Amino acid sequence: APRVLSGIQPTADSFHLGNYLGALRQWVALQETSDAFYCVVDLHAITVAQDPAVLRHRTRVSAAQLLALGIDTDRATLFVQSQVPEHAQLAWVLNCITGFGEAGRMTQFKDKASRQGSDRASVGLFTYPVLQAADILLYQADQVPVGEDQRQHLELTRDLAGRFNTTYGPTFTVPSPHIVSGAKILDLQDPTSKMSKSASSPAGIVDLLDEPAVSAKKIRSAVTDTGREVRFDPQEKAGVSNLLTIHSALSGRPVAELELEYAGRGYGDLKKDVAAVLTDFTTPLRAAVDGYLADPAQLDAILAEGAERARTVASATLAATFDRVGFLPRV
Ligand code: ATP
Ligand code: MG
Repeated sequence: APRVLSGIQPTADSFHLGNYLGALRQWVALQETSDAFYCVVDLHAITVAQDPAVLRHRTRVSAAQLLALGIDTDRATLFVQSQVPEHAQLAWVLNCITGFGEAGRMTQFKDKASRQGSDRASVGLFTYPVLQAADILLYQADQVPVGEDQRQHLELTRDLAGRFNTTYGPTFTVPSPHIVSGAKILDLQDPTSKMSKSASSPAGIVDLLDEPAVSAKKIRSAVTDTGREVRFDPQEKAGVSNLLTIHSALSGRPVAELELEYAGRGYGDLKKDVAAVLTDFTTPLRAAVDGYLADPAQLDAILAEGAERARTVASATLAATFDRVGFLPRV
């Protein structure tokens, strides 16, 4: 079975619809057909300042959501990144074969650093994609189910794997450039940019754990256009197209069918129905998350077992890497 690795940051009290439709839904599907490793990437989270108590809570909330969404620890290995020290160790080696200019060309870094002011942005934020490469290469992953927004980071991972293999001898699987992802979901208030935990305003984000009334209001207030026609046209009708994408992804009905259904009807009807299909999805999810959070010790035990399993793979890759580089064996 192909090996799959993906991660998500514990940087919000809830995952949003972009996380789910762009990536997490594929995580659940891929555990059936692949040897999947999924991690909550708390090392990535601290590339921007985090309150310790909030981070700890969000790490558990993130794991609870993954379990509630259907990640099954009999099929997939679910763990927290900081509990597998090999991630930080391999990242160091990869940092040393990454060009300064190469890292500086990453658009996510440029976006996030410019939002913070470049003097405030941390060196950790700069090397974020290198740590991501370490996550992937440690597990010799063939496939990486991430959103379209991660394409450039995946390309860097492939470059670093190839460079290391050429310099030191074959060590890492070069992951497929194919993005195993779903839709790119846009900010409801600004449908020219992606829905994002760190960049979107609260009104632009649909959180999976929002109360139904809250998400219905956000969807009702979503920016559309001055026209009246419900038509999928990402250039001219970015907002309406985003709502159609969301409806289609959640209801399983093709966009073309939805266009017919809403022909001659207003945007209001579409928005009402998007809110309804969303509520059908999130109501049982919220209950399941509450169930996991009610017993944090049990949740921590599930994660400890995942980390144990992850370490058996990660430590073998790290040992091979250290040997290639010329580090002395630990006797
Ligand atoms: P941040 O803004 O802090 O980067 P994020 O909202 O992008 O947060 P991440 O934890 O970085 O969330 O990403 C988790 C996964 O969700 C990644 O695989 C990413 O590609 C995917 N993803 C994030 N936003 C979207 C989106 N709007 N549409 C589709 N996929 C997305
Ligand atoms: Mg992101």
